[in-house]
Amino acid sequence: MRDNQEFCKCKNRPSVYSEEDDWGYWLVCAQCRKPIEDSYTYFNHYDGEDHCDDD
Ligand SMILES: [Zn+2]
Repeated sequence: MRDNQEFCKCKNRPSVYSEEDDWGYWLVCAQCRKPIEDSYTYFNHYDGEDHCDDD
């Protein structure tokens, strides 16, 4: 683990990609490869199984 968690500060991002873990996903800048601040999104009702969102 890094001591300093830095976020992307690019003003003009050419593109982003997403990475995910067991609880959610976040966006990463393709230019500097740092995460986009506040981009982390939790999966809804993650239970390890595929299911439909019928809300
Ligand atoms: Zn960046």
